[in-house]
Amino acid sequence: MLLTPHTLVGVAIATNISNPFLAIPLAFISHFLGDKVPHWDFYSNTKKEDRVKGWRPLAVMGDLSIGVAVGVAYTTYFLWVKQDVALALSAFICGIASVLPDALSGLTIIGGKENKFLGILNKIQSKMQFQAPLPWGILTQVVVILISLYFIKI
Ligand SMILES: [Zn+2]
Repeated sequence: MLLTPHTLVGVAIATNISNPFLAIPLAFISHFLGDKVPHWDFYSNTKKEDRVKGWRPLAVMGDLSIGVAVGVAYTTYFLWVKQDVALALSAFICGIASVLPDALSGLTIIGGKENKFLGILNKIQSKMQFQAPLPWGILTQVVVILISLYFIKI
């Protein structure tokens, strides 16, 4: 799944589960469940070589930037408008946790090498992916975004 819907799921978890020791691991797990939603992303049906050149890395960076912006926007809102430091911190960390598996996999794509831990993670990641063609693969993610926005308590 794209990074932006993953981030929103993470923030939704943070605003609904007040215990960060529960919310943060759940946000991390939500990544794998999110990838089970039939989806299209920039790496759908690509070979390793395609992932590091052309427009794809740029598109991933764009998606990452939107995801970071969304996470920072909610964190700032919780901090300054709601004046809830604990929630802001939890939302920030949950946002990161929800995209962490992809961030770690990204390291192996860019670096070209993987250690044992990253190797296992990458195997799990590729097994959990449920691909869907366009436009359906984007539509499902729009639904994930809408459901997340519905559940994010502001
Ligand atoms: Zn993933």
